[in-house]
Amino acid sequence: MSPSCELCEAAALTRRFDEGPDYWIAECEACGVPLVVWRTHDPLPPPAVRVALWLRLARVANEELGVGAWRLDDRLRTIGDHYHAHARPRPRGGGWPPSV
Ligand SMILES: [Zn+2]
Ligand SMILES: [Zn+2]
Repeated sequence: MSPSCELCEAAALTRRFDEGPDYWIAECEACGVPLVVWRTHDPLPPPAVRVALWLRLARVANEELGVGAWRLDDRLRTIGDHYHAHARPRPRGGGWPPSV
């Protein structure tokens, strides 16, 4: 936990879609898209954790934005020391997991 970290506080965020012991998913206040946040204050989750978070986010994003209508964006921009990933809308195709 970091006292000055917005994602640790998780207070200012809006609608919450899903949560579990090690993650939560809410509508990002800044972007208005589904956002998954790892509950651990660390920028680099192990690969297995990352994939698990993506799967949770994919379930929400497929429902909110539509299958293939979004892309995973886990570049840490404004908050660089706490792992999170956005599901950003995209015009068509793509998405994660890929629809075959
Ligand atoms: Zn944090
Ligand atoms: Zn955002």
